[in-house]
Amino acid sequence: MHELPVTQKIVKIADEHCRENGGNRVLKVNMVIGDYSGYVGEAMQTYFGIVAEGTLCEGASLDFVKVEPKLRCDSCGKLFKKQLLSFECPYCGGQGRQSEIGKEFYIDTIEIE
Ligand SMILES: [Zn+2]
Repeated sequence: MHELPVTQKIVKIADEHCRENGGNRVLKVNMVIGDYSGYVGEAMQTYFGIVAEGTLCEGASLDFVKVEPKLRCDSCGKLFKKQLLSFECPYCGGQGRQSEIGKEFYIDTIEIE
């Protein structure tokens, strides 16, 4: 599972963020994860509890917002949700292609105390 190394990285970032800001511990890490990012948020939550042991993230929770992938129409430029087996634009009937929306993968906020 490739979520393990990235979760270790996130724990390290949150731990350092907490120290740099004079916090005692991390309460929560909020992430944004696109469905096409290649990472599974649920898997990261499982690893987070294990990896966080012995760090300032111990006892903290990992929360994430999922982003649904969207296609961008080649003809009219509008963004729309991909339908099963279809790349057709619902506005003009043009062809859509994968946009950057859905590939998000970043830490939004880190709550400390
Ligand atoms: Zn269109």
